[in-house]
Amino acid sequence: MTPGNAPFVPPGSGWPEDPATPGTPVAHGTGDVVELAAKAPDLDGLCARQSVCRACDRLVEWREKVAVQRRRAFADEDYWGRPVAGWGDPEPRILIVGLAPAAHGGNRTGRIFTGDRSGDWLFASLHRVGLAALPTSVHAGDGQRLIGARMAATVRCAPPDNKPTPLERTTCLPWLAREVELVAASVRCVVCLGGFAWQGVWPALKHAGYGLPRPRPKFGHGAEVELAPPPSARDGASGPVLMLGCYHPSQQNTFTGRVTEDMLDAVLTRARDHR
Ligand code: SF4
Repeated sequence: MTPGNAPFVPPGSGWPEDPATPGTPVAHGTGDVVELAAKAPDLDGLCARQSVCRACDRLVEWREKVAVQRRRAFADEDYWGRPVAGWGDPEPRILIVGLAPAAHGGNRTGRIFTGDRSGDWLFASLHRVGLAALPTSVHAGDGQRLIGARMAATVRCAPPDNKPTPLERTTCLPWLAREVELVAASVRCVVCLGGFAWQGVWPALKHAGYGLPRPRPKFGHGAEVELAPPPSARDGASGPVLMLGCYHPSQQNTFTGRVTEDMLDAVLTRARDHR
């Protein structure tokens, strides 16, 4: 494990579920991300490369500053302090896409949607509908497991105020595009948590060969779009792939009742039952 107040966990140093090793190639700029994502040999190799990326100066500085300073409640914990890689079933039927990890959530625990209130809501719902093995996701290595589902973010590093810049979104896109490409053979449904994820996933779907509608439908809770599957989709699964919109289970949305447990369960049930 890391010594106290280190800015990040060194790759391959024993953190549970760390996909990287000391030899994993590191992206230091936009061109590196493009090249390393495109040449990632498989999903494991891609996630390893995602998890050590240093391409966005502002986000690297922020995620590591947060990891050093820490929130009082987590002062005794090591922080991950690195990009949060895609996680879940390597051959998912459902791909769940969010915006970016939280500073004291995924940036602390090393697992997407883990360690913050949004994730608590999401994993509880996933468990209720049979897509997660446990009702909670606390930390990498806690035994949690997704069942037929996978999660990824449009931006892999925690941004200040949860707001990545347009340039940061563009810089990070090749990681998502390659991940979508590598799981496209099995995916039957894409669930977008929030409008930014909805917007951010279109170019990744296009890159992976999906047939997309024009004009792009608007985001909304329960919005549904049928996508023509890419050539890599498995035989026997040639019907439309479903893209679903879901309000983000942010603290603001759940506190105000804009998102309820029933609303989350309904979208995830729809995703689970789409064949
Ligand atoms: S946001 Fe994406 S591209 Fe930028 S440093 Fe993090 S992982 Fe790399």
